[in-house]
Amino acid sequence: MVRNGFSFPEFLPSIGTRATWDLARIVHRGTPGGYLSCDIKRSMLLVRSPWRNVKMVRVLCVSCGSERKQFEHVCSNCGSVFEIKPDWKYRGTYREDFPYVRNWVSLGEAETPLVDHGKMLLKLDYFQPTFSYKDRGSRVLVSRAADVLNKGQDINEDSSGNAGASVSAYGKAAGFKVHIFASEGAIESKLKQIRAYGASVTQVRGSRENVTEAAIKAPGTYMGHSYIPEFRDGIRSLAYELFRQTGGKIPDVIYVPLSAGTLLLGVHSGFTNLLDSGEITQMPSIVGVQPQGVDPICAQIKGAAYDPNNGITSIADALVTKKPVLRKLVVSALSGSGTCVPVTDAEIMESWKDLSTSGYLVEHSSAAALAGYRKLRRGERPAIILTGNGLKSI
Ligand SMILES: [Zn+2]
Repeated sequence: MVRNGFSFPEFLPSIGTRATWDLARIVHRGTPGGYLSCDIKRSMLLVRSPWRNVKMVRVLCVSCGSERKQFEHVCSNCGSVFEIKPDWKYRGTYREDFPYVRNWVSLGEAETPLVDHGKMLLKLDYFQPTFSYKDRGSRVLVSRAADVLNKGQDINEDSSGNAGASVSAYGKAAGFKVHIFASEGAIESKLKQIRAYGASVTQVRGSRENVTEAAIKAPGTYMGHSYIPEFRDGIRSLAYELFRQTGGKIPDVIYVPLSAGTLLLGVHSGFTNLLDSGEITQMPSIVGVQPQGVDPICAQIKGAAYDPNNGITSIADALVTKKPVLRKLVVSALSGSGTCVPVTDAEIMESWKDLSTSGYLVEHSSAAALAGYRKLRRGERPAIILTGNGLKSI
């Protein structure tokens, strides 16, 4: 047999016949990067398949079920977002748990620490290459993009912070030209980080929606982390790590900062996959924490009024998403044992100070998760997900 490929000697009574090459082309359809060649010595036609061991996963619209063709950000039929629903079992390796990725882009990721902190567990997920949990999503998103798109291509992302930095670093590592679109009020230290990775930054006047629109309309491929499902699917790995690091005894409650919803949905999908795989017997309760006044999901769950134009902002800048496009999906994910809790800036500051003086310098947005626990007091031994390094906004 042929290394890294496969052969069809049984189909080859005579090499080079029209039928033989047609067969090979059929086999080969849709596999960019592969090639056909003749092994004259062994009288074989070789078909090298770049998709060997790669699972073809259908990416479907959450509303009408239409299949995505290639990185469209919304369904052309109904305008909804797409999603990836793992229908394969958890195995415990990136290659098997994300089987639709062929070549991995890597910046030296490792499992992030899980530490005991009194009656709770702190998941220090800011120990990542670009110092936030977003690298889990970017790694999968960009690796998949690099499988399909050409090197040197332009990719565009709308973010004013951690996702922008993360997509910039991974995008440049994959050989793309990265363009980040940010709002005018974006924090300068975060824009500096994005530029440091070699991405271009365009600041857009107006609302957050104006920023997104500019990124979508720009030449190149739109890679918005809120829309493109590979990003939030990549965050499944966080649930897997918690599962492994606790020896299968997962925390009963998990507190996550909640903004666009990618973290919550990724973690929820990971635990759902573990449940479907028979690795756990019960889903943990997931609690999303939002800044009070910038809490569209908490408001919807509680049936309270919410005005996206209320002008309220928060010290937790990464959590200021007024109109999350994934709102329906997040509310649905929380509809079981989960819930959402709003916290004030004062409560966030108090938690931030306590974490900092304990040696955990995180972003205020991360500290919101602890503030949520202190407010709700749900869970015997909960896990608090700390998402971003405090040096980013100090
Ligand atoms: Zn649709």
